[in-house]
Amino acid sequence: MPELIADIAVFAPLRQLFSYRVAESLCDSIRPGQGVRVPFGRRRVAGIVTALRRGTAEKLKDVGELLAEEPLLDQPLLELCCWAADYYRYPVGMALRSALPAGLVSAVPRVSALSDSLYRPAELTVQPKGNKQREVLAFIQTAGEATLSCLRDEFSAPHTILERLVEQGFLTKTKIEKLRDPFLSDPVKTDMPLSLTAEQQVAFERLQQAVIADIFSPFLLQGVTGSGKTEVYLQTIAEVLKQGRQGLVLVPEIALTPQLVGRFRARFEAAGYRIAVLHSGLSDGERFDSWRQIARGDIDIVIGARSAIFAPLQKPGLIIIDEEHESSYKQGEGFRYNARDLALLRGQKVGCPVLLGSATPSLGSAFRCASGQMEKLELTRRAHAGELPKVDLVNLSGQPPEQLISTQLQEGIATTLDAGQQVLLLLNRRGFSPFLLCADCGQTFRCPNCEITLTYHQKVQHLRCHYCDYSITPPTACPRCEGDQLEPEGFGTERLEQEIAELFPAARIARMDRDTTSRKGAHQKIVRKMLDRQVDILVGTQMIAKGHDFPGVALVGVLASDAVLNLPDFRAAERAFSLLTQVAGRAGRTGGGRVLIQTYSPDHYALECAAAQDYATFYEQEILFRQELGYPPAGHLANLVFSGIGEQKVQKVAEGLTAYLFDVGGPVEILGPSPCPLFRLRGKHRVQILLKAEKRSQLKRLLDYAEHWKAPAGVSLTIDVDPLDMF
Ligand code: ADP
Ligand code: ZN
Repeated sequence: MPELIADIAVFAPLRQLFSYRVAESLCDSIRPGQGVRVPFGRRRVAGIVTALRRGTAEKLKDVGELLAEEPLLDQPLLELCCWAADYYRYPVGMALRSALPAGLVSAVPRVSALSDSLYRPAELTVQPKGNKQREVLAFIQTAGEATLSCLRDEFSAPHTILERLVEQGFLTKTKIEKLRDPFLSDPVKTDMPLSLTAEQQVAFERLQQAVIADIFSPFLLQGVTGSGKTEVYLQTIAEVLKQGRQGLVLVPEIALTPQLVGRFRARFEAAGYRIAVLHSGLSDGERFDSWRQIARGDIDIVIGARSAIFAPLQKPGLIIIDEEHESSYKQGEGFRYNARDLALLRGQKVGCPVLLGSATPSLGSAFRCASGQMEKLELTRRAHAGELPKVDLVNLSGQPPEQLISTQLQEGIATTLDAGQQVLLLLNRRGFSPFLLCADCGQTFRCPNCEITLTYHQKVQHLRCHYCDYSITPPTACPRCEGDQLEPEGFGTERLEQEIAELFPAARIARMDRDTTSRKGAHQKIVRKMLDRQVDILVGTQMIAKGHDFPGVALVGVLASDAVLNLPDFRAAERAFSLLTQVAGRAGRTGGGRVLIQTYSPDHYALECAAAQDYATFYEQEILFRQELGYPPAGHLANLVFSGIGEQKVQKVAEGLTAYLFDVGGPVEILGPSPCPLFRLRGKHRVQILLKAEKRSQLKRLLDYAEHWKAPAGVSLTIDVDPLDMF
């Protein structure tokens, strides 16, 4: 009879699977999704069984051992990861590994943060009596230390054995404190479901049906800002829980959405449902604990960012992607998956509805609705009294360029402050000014690694590269002409804050950007101050546009909208429309809001549509442009980025592959090679080729060639499928 063979994705940067023979003793226990250790070259490495089959195993090595009795991934999750690894051209073992918490597959069992006792071996040379006792002790000795919950996974009923070992002096036992998780330990007030508006009711009933039907169905909930999308999520999740299933909720960036987490807790915790929040502040141990709790079925709702798409829920009954238009769902390096797209795939594999929500859906999602692949549910009005704010474009042409804040905006701020209301000001650039300029000779300062200008940060006295963090203390004299008139040019949030303080000395001002929120909890502190009305004017980057519900904000001002609009990216209009509509939506949550957008291009359709909060018209215009040029969603892209030392060398290598791809032919447009917009980054030269195809299959064919093409030493090739950021 043919022997049992396991195909294994080893945790190594290799794209292919490896086959191993399964020894008789493991045949009954080995299953797909299981973690194993296998001999690999001269080492032993961990990996995951992707499939089992029968065949001739003569020349194959044996699977070493199983890492755990149970599979680490169930079949749908395993398939999802393998599919994604293939699609995004990433080593399958590494893709699987990124779906698992760190530590799960390391040799030493991890210290678990939730468990209450930690056991360590004492220095005794004698051995305990019982076999079971010896076994447990040997396990702990090998690991160095182990927690009760970890030992529970390894042994049945270890507690009495452990107590005996402690009594006899073989082990010491210490209590470990459960770490405070700010997301789950702050108290919340329990709340009740709201009675839905007519539009919410229609959307909810449709989703309720889908949840009960319990098969894959994709939805887009397009609701203007403040229309009560979250309430629809909450009530739909309640339905999911009623069906005995679990909810998976993805948000763009968990640290920026404490309010959303609070609303889920307020609704479900008192009823005894258990929520896990996966956020970047978790230690490896905590992440490991959450993962295991989820896998065990102890969790009803998982809320997390991008990587939570791999949360090991047993029976998801609904997957929600909040603010689905956000580009942070796409991982920018390594395994470049898009969690929104994988959500649809996971929904297909497990058979559950998937709900994408946004006030400004990505063009791709709107396109899917238009072509009947996704069902659209709409909320066109705000949930309570507040009408959408009135938006005006302030034309900057003709105004003095050194005046950052137009007269109209100044007046608007003054009126708002007089009325005792709050102001939000968006300037999408942090630091004091984008560069320091010598007034005598025109000298500027550039990053030696990235070739972009260094941003001036006044408070900390740094010139800093926003890509690689290179920084220097600003010189007092120009290194070229020795002149002493080095002046900050242009504006960043730090400078805006200063200007505002000069114009409105009585106002209490706060700033929210990456510089002021880098410390843990700093972001939440600013949000709290805004909610408690301890701040009159909040200045910030796009961070202030995201997901907040500040009832006291009556005026939103946007300072340099053109900076977003003029990015060298075919999605610039979409980004600008979305950012402006989102930030405008922060105004007048309780009625009578006003928005002023300063711009040099008041006639641009993205700005006109954002001002009118008119998604439909924006979509119609934008999709024409995409169709004409074959850009997504009307076509498919992949970006091939070459990087290495030496401009000419990298360029030549890129030309080599381009020529090869031209020879291979096919109906794919090959653009480039051309220097990346950031043509030097972290010391490396970068050149890219953009592939544009009408059909995915055409693109795939060319990518297969590109992937098997051997890049010469010293130049590396990165393939980005469905790229979002092409800098
Ligand atoms: P969105 O997520 O669509 O921007 P939110 O869910 O934040 O909107 O809702 C905006 C505000 O409207 C919140 O304060 C919320 O409590 C309130 N709200 C939502 N639905 C209702 C409803 N049916 N009745 C009354 N208030 C509601
Ligand atoms: Zn740099």
